[in-house]
Amino acid sequence: MRVALIGPPGSGKGTQSANLRDRYAIPHISSGDLLRDAVSRETELGMQAKEFMSSGRLVPDKLVLGMMKERFEQPDCAAGFLLDGFPRTVAQAEVLGAMLDAKHAPLDSVVALVVAREEIVVRLGGRRSCGKCGKLYHVTFDPPAVAGKCDACNADLVIRDDDREETIRQRLEVYEEQTAPLLDYYRNIGLLAEIDGVGVQADISGRIAAALEVV
Ligand code: AMP
Repeated sequence: MRVALIGPPGSGKGTQSANLRDRYAIPHISSGDLLRDAVSRETELGMQAKEFMSSGRLVPDKLVLGMMKERFEQPDCAAGFLLDGFPRTVAQAEVLGAMLDAKHAPLDSVVALVVAREEIVVRLGGRRSCGKCGKLYHVTFDPPAVAGKCDACNADLVIRDDDREETIRQRLEVYEEQTAPLLDYYRNIGLLAEIDGVGVQADISGRIAAALEVV
């Protein structure tokens, strides 16, 4: 199964990806995680990507595409994959499409999580992450057992640079301008499944699975 999950920041892509990875036993490939890893390892890609990420802008297509091409070469992708946060522009989608067509392994489906803007601002504004292992929390909806501390490793929770208020606004604008056009792009080629991303996590996973199983 080859699936891409798209949606605005804070729409639950990360959470739903983890559920889908477990349900279908396919690798979860998050371009955001790969980029954050490059930043923390201070690789050349990481150094180039850092400023774009912390200001809420997209990392240039050329850098992201190079990174993703390398990831697709890994043997675990042969049985399928779940893309989270990639593609994010029509140009990325076109390159991805050409690359997968060349392998005779096109996408089966593109799942778009639909969440209203006001809901997203609340979700992202309360988001905290562990400074050590990256585990995500929400001050209201998913708090840690001890305020400000990670349940898994007891390290301090921090606000990710890109979850600061002005950056959230910027990320939403970037989504509207550069990523939302992908909805039409994939609708026109018959791959889009739009899923209501509000409600109980398990219900949302069920809706996604139902959409994927009729593909
Ligand atoms: P995410 O964790 O998916 O929200 O990604 C965090 C940040 O990484 C984004 O705000 C972008 O700066 C960058 N990023 C992740 N995926 C992409 C992509 N496909 N294209 C460009 N930039 C990306």
